[in-house]
Formats: sequence, C-alpha cells, structure tokens
Amino acid sequence: MNEHENFETLAIRIQTERGKEREHSTPIFATSSFVFESAEQARALFADEEPGNIYTRFSNPNSSEFVEKICRMEDMEDGISTASGMSAVFSTLAGLLKSGDHILVSRSVFGSTHQILTQIFPKWNIDFTYVDIQKPEKWASAIKRTTKMIFVETPSNPALDIIDLEWLGKLSEKHKLILAVDNCFSTPYIQNPGKYGAHLSIHSATKYLDGQGRTIGGVVVGKKELIKDIRFFARHTGPALSPFNAWVLSKSLETLAIRMEKHSENAYKLATYLENHSEVESVKYPFLPSHPQYEIARKQMKLGGGIVSFQVKGGIERGRDFLNGLEMLSHSANLGDTRSIATHPASTTHSKLSDEERKLVGIEPGLIRISVGLEHIDDIIKDIDSSLNKSKK
Ligand SMILES: *Cc1c(COP(=O)(O)O)cnc(C)c1O
Repeated sequence: MNEHENFETLAIRIQTERGKEREHSTPIFATSSFVFESAEQARALFADEEPGNIYTRFSNPNSSEFVEKICRMEDMEDGISTASGMSAVFSTLAGLLKSGDHILVSRSVFGSTHQILTQIFPKWNIDFTYVDIQKPEKWASAIKRTTKMIFVETPSNPALDIIDLEWLGKLSEKHKLILAVDNCFSTPYIQNPGKYGAHLSIHSATKYLDGQGRTIGGVVVGKKELIKDIRFFARHTGPALSPFNAWVLSKSLETLAIRMEKHSENAYKLATYLENHSEVESVKYPFLPSHPQYEIARKQMKLGGGIVSFQVKGGIERGRDFLNGLEMLSHSANLGDTRSIATHPASTTHSKLSDEERKLVGIEPGLIRISVGLEHIDDIIKDIDSSLNKSKK
C-alpha cells in the first residue's frame, strides 16, 4: 500500500483508502457495524478468508490505520489497538498465558501492571517473579520450567531505569521465552524493541502517542502468531478502541517525530540545569552521562525522551512543598502531554508502599518526576527554579 520507508513519511502518508468524497484527511468511521454485500461475503469475512470489517469491536478503518502506522514504525508484523494501555497489557498477558505459567518481570513496572500480577493473576494460578534490572546475572537463575514470558518496562516509570534489550533478547532466545516490552516511555520513534529480539512492543497510547492529553488508548504490535492469540482474547472480551480515539491517535502520529525531538531537547536542557542546582540531590535522565545505564541508553534509544526525575533535598515534606509551589507546571497523574507535568510518587502513586518497598523500585522520598512538555524551556525552568527556592527551609 505504501512504498515510503522513512518514519515521518510513514506517519503521515499511511492512510485509509479515500472514499467517494475524495477527502484529503481520513474521516471518522463512527459506525458500529459494516454491511455485507452478499451472504457469501458475510461467510467469507467470518471465516477469515477475506479481509474486511465486520463489527467495530473486531476492527474499524480508524483503528486499522492507527495500528498499521505503529506496525510500520516498529517494524513489527501485526498488531491490535485497545481501549487503554492497561487493556493492551492485560490482553497480551491473558491472551498468551494459561494457568500454571510463570513470567519474569522487571521490578518497578507500572502500578496497574503490578496490581494485575499480584491481585488478579493469583486467581488464575499465573505466577511471576520480580527481577532486579541492576543485576542481570539474577535473570537466568530466576527462569523456571514453567516460565513462558519475560515482561519488562524500559525506561521504567518513574525511576527511569534502563534494561539492555540486546542482552535480554539473547536471553529470551536461548530459553525460548516470549519477550514483551512496555515501550510507552520511548515511543516507536525513540526505541524499537523488535530490533533486539523482542516479540511484542506495548504502548499506552494515552501518553506520547496522543501527546496532548485528550484520549485513553493502547496498542500492541509484534509477531503475527502471538498477535493472533491476543486478538482472539481482545475480540471476545471487548476492549475495543473507539473510532474517535483511534482517529485522534492516528492524526497525532503525524507529529510524533517532531514532538519527541522537542520533548527530548527540553528534557535534556532541564536535566542539565537541575544537575547544577544547589537544592537538588541527584538527577536521572537516560542521556545524562551520570545515568547508571547511560551506555545502554545510548545504544538502544535514539533520544533521551521527555521524562526527567530528580531528588529534591529534604525528603517527603519538601517534595510536597515543591509541588505546591509550582505555578505553571500541572500537578497531574498523566505524562507525555504538551503541558509539563510534575508528580511526587512517594506521596501519591506509591504512597501505599513502605519506605523499604519504595527504595526497591528506586523511589526516594524526595523524588519528583517531570514530564517535560513543549512550552518554552525558559518558562519550564523558571517555574521549577522558583518553586525549589520557595520550598527551601
Ligand atoms: C500509563 C502507562 C500504562 C497504562 O496505560 P493507560 O493508558 O493509562 O491504561 C502502562 N505502562 C506505562 C509505562 C504507563 O506509563
């Protein structure tokens, strides 16, 4: 359908075939179902002998356009879109695992992924082991006879730890395990896990793929035979992405490359600034040479991404005071928005963990996560600097 190969061009020029109106930009296909031209066509569509839409829970031109772009951007064979990032994660795990199976998981995964593993999967006898990404030698020994999959998040949220995908790809190949990567923080523009042997790449489209904080959505792309099972699970359990959200997301991809360049540029400037700030204990950003996995980040990521985390001096109280002192930056749970967003994990998303547990996932009491937006960098720095000075005791 499309002979272009460059990322930016694919993002713009992959498009649903034009209709009778000769529309330039893809319209929204707000329809629950599609008509069959004959009883024979209906039979063939249901038998999967002919491609085509039947019902929007299964597929829709807007979601197909969105998925096709992500497949091409990640160089993966097939994919499905879902109503949220979590339904993409859940459909992947539930579609591929069965009772008695075991998964290896990088410690410090997204909060709801942790809840699925610890609160929901025990009901179905699906077991997991958390492994420390700082200690690669622990991974091989954690593999059991029942292990089916390795599931990792890199960079991790919010600690920005980075796992060597090339090394992990070899480990999964050696042990014949499915390798699934939550690629949300990097987006297809910055990192393509498939290049290193990952079989599946999962995104919360809510974040950078939307990029303006308007929709909730998810997508998983990967090997055809794995997607087949995930699609079966999603088709019959129903977490379909709405045509409107799919339309918004597909349009957003047209500007993904240029947005990620600017997010990364602003984030790098902020990280460098914070590294020299007297009220800041430490800064973490994948493309700062002080990052513990800097070399790996440079190898597998095209850019450092838009998230910076830093530790403010003075612990949990200071972290909260810092957030209260911000005037422009939003205090919100989202990330990957044009608007810069600050969060304080220790008093919000990870407040239920003990200090010990938080430490294990890299969350110090004074840790602040900034999703660096697309406002002018001088204004972002000014607001953060002013709040750091105001919250000084
Ligand atoms: C937000 C997020 C998710 C979940 O996505 P939703 O769209 O909120 O369901 C999963 N993984 C990571 C890393 C995230 O940041």
